[in-house]
Amino acid sequence: MFGTMDAAPTPPSADPRKNLVGLSREELEAEMRTIGAEKFRARQLWQWIYNRGVAEFAAMTSLSKSFRAELERHYVVRRPDVSRALASFDGTRKWLLRFPDGQEVEAVHIPEEDRGTLCVSSQVGCTLTCKFCHTGTQRLVRNLEPAEIVGQVMIARDALGEWPSPTEDRQLTNIVMMGMGEPLYNYDNIAKALRIVMDHEGLSLSKRKITLSTSGVVPMIRRCGTELGVNLAISLHAVADELRDVLVPINKKYPIAELLQACREYPTASNARRITFEYVMLKDVNDSPAEARELVRLLKGIPAKVNLIPFNPWPGAPFERSTDDAIKRFSDVVFSAGYSSPVRTPRGEDIMAACGQLKSDSVKLRKSELLRRQLAAASAGAA
Ligand code: SAH
Ligand code: SF4
Repeated sequence: MFGTMDAAPTPPSADPRKNLVGLSREELEAEMRTIGAEKFRARQLWQWIYNRGVAEFAAMTSLSKSFRAELERHYVVRRPDVSRALASFDGTRKWLLRFPDGQEVEAVHIPEEDRGTLCVSSQVGCTLTCKFCHTGTQRLVRNLEPAEIVGQVMIARDALGEWPSPTEDRQLTNIVMMGMGEPLYNYDNIAKALRIVMDHEGLSLSKRKITLSTSGVVPMIRRCGTELGVNLAISLHAVADELRDVLVPINKKYPIAELLQACREYPTASNARRITFEYVMLKDVNDSPAEARELVRLLKGIPAKVNLIPFNPWPGAPFERSTDDAIKRFSDVVFSAGYSSPVRTPRGEDIMAACGQLKSDSVKLRKSELLRRQLAAASAGAA
């Protein structure tokens, strides 16, 4: 089965020192100015933080002792706390991260033969209410800060032992913005975080290895393409507006035709860098061969690949996963029209790390922890 590695819960940080993680290069330079240090110090720090992964100023040995002490007085290099780390029998790893305000999100690492993908969250919860997605049933708590987004990558690097940033044979080769939340509703913070992640002197993940998944925030799609140039994934899930209005309610604002037009105009899309269309397979809802044919018709002219995701059930979900036969029939239609259409094998199911399941068990765990504490307090009061 899987092993758990519980970390002792840390109390919220009361440290008033500023966190250097999540600052852009320009902001880091400005900080150096405020403490009277030269500009090139920012570059040195950047390399220590993002290339070497060093969190203690004391270990930054290329800096003078007095400068290290000065940094220590003003700043910290802080990652999110890991409140739980889980490892699945299939190699998938999941980290539940806790921020100083007590909010939590998850990051998941999925190793494959030739690559390793980190699934990164963009918000605590989500304001959208896609009917098949468990995150959509949680009320939005807040956007993640750049430090909290970059922090997910740094935590994974820590756990995988990948410092300094390796140039080859990496275990963390790809990033998908497919965790909790809608990244294009937190665009500024995502953009800032991804620029840090893509920086060649730091974490150094290429824009070609980063994919942002959106439910279809049409006006932001173009900005994402021109400013960040990352790969795009679209959560399509239905081929007619009537059904997509229900499954992915943002469709009422940005219907399928507008969404596909934004895809046609997506700046980096080419045959080498295709747009991924995600399609969750819901039994008897969206999985007929006729819908597969309509999908092929809609995608005409777009450099596309299709990712069929068997629905991952969660307690109380109003859907079932399509049968293997239905998935095969659907995939055959898409494939014979010339599109690659891999069926995404659910990974890390034993640790609830599959799509749409993120955090749901930890919320339950918190509730049961709370109940235990209430019971303990009640029995202590009675004694
Ligand atoms: N908000 C963004 C990114 C996060 S969701 C988006 O919607 O694209 C990542 C992917 O998982 C999306 O394609 C989403 O539709 C899919 N997903 C959500 N819940 C799922 C479930 N229960 N089973 C299978 N896929 C699911
Ligand atoms: Fe939000 Fe994406 Fe889930 Fe929809 S599928 S509720 S956009 S996280």
